[in-house]
Amino acid sequence: MITTPADIAAAISILNAHARAYGCGKEAIYAYKKVAALIDARAGIAQARPVGVLAECRNCRGTGLFFSWYEGQSNERCRTCSATGKVYLRFVETTISGHRWHHPYIDAGLPILYAALGSPEINFDAGARDLINKYKDGRCERRPFESAGDWQPNAPGEKLEAERAAELLNLVEGWISTLGGADVPQTWPLDYARQCIKTYALELGCVGEACHYCGAGDIKTRFGTWSKHLRWSHPVCKDHADMPSTQWDKTPPLDALGPHARAWLARRPSEAIAA
Ligand SMILES: [Zn+2]
Ligand SMILES: [Zn+2]
Repeated sequence: MITTPADIAAAISILNAHARAYGCGKEAIYAYKKVAALIDARAGIAQARPVGVLAECRNCRGTGLFFSWYEGQSNERCRTCSATGKVYLRFVETTISGHRWHHPYIDAGLPILYAALGSPEINFDAGARDLINKYKDGRCERRPFESAGDWQPNAPGEKLEAERAAELLNLVEGWISTLGGADVPQTWPLDYARQCIKTYALELGCVGEACHYCGAGDIKTRFGTWSKHLRWSHPVCKDHADMPSTQWDKTPPLDALGPHARAWLARRPSEAIAA
């Protein structure tokens, strides 16, 4: 049975922190992480366990009073957390080649736990808030959601530079592309992970330091633009800051790409030059 190679697990861990910081390819990275965890779960080496965390309610920012993004703080009770300011979140924690990962219970967590436990029937006991696992040999086991220790969801991430992100994405996507056949059950989200390879853009950040149109060093703003697979911005001086977007230079800045970013783009031959 296949397992997730250690260098792939290490790359996904770094990309996972990049995704948390809203780095490019966020959805794709979570899809690759899910497939990698499923593979080790099925091989019996993922050490999957259900964990629960009491976290600050994001809807009211912990105040217990409803917060509107348009109108600000209100005096209404927050319904998400019943005005307690806290929400109880469930995850499945895995250890993949020594890296500790957390998967939201309902989305990725449940199928990972199912694979790790040898496909029992898993039922949620809403009264006790435990899981009751019924195994094929008739054995029944109650599993509480354990403490996640010092881990908290939404910990700050670390966004990678385009070249480093491309290097790690090339590695992980190369591996994802080799998977298939009997190695991976049909029910697993491998097709979705493959789709994700094609559907995000590499974020190059700001390309250049002087005004893109006249070379002036006094920068007033940046014009952000994109092609099919790249996103970038150009620095612009005050004289060019009012240029209509129809006149912006939207030619992908291919000269700004490093070798890993070039290899990343070469795997996407449909790159369209026009925005
Ligand atoms: Zn709340
Ligand atoms: Zn200028």
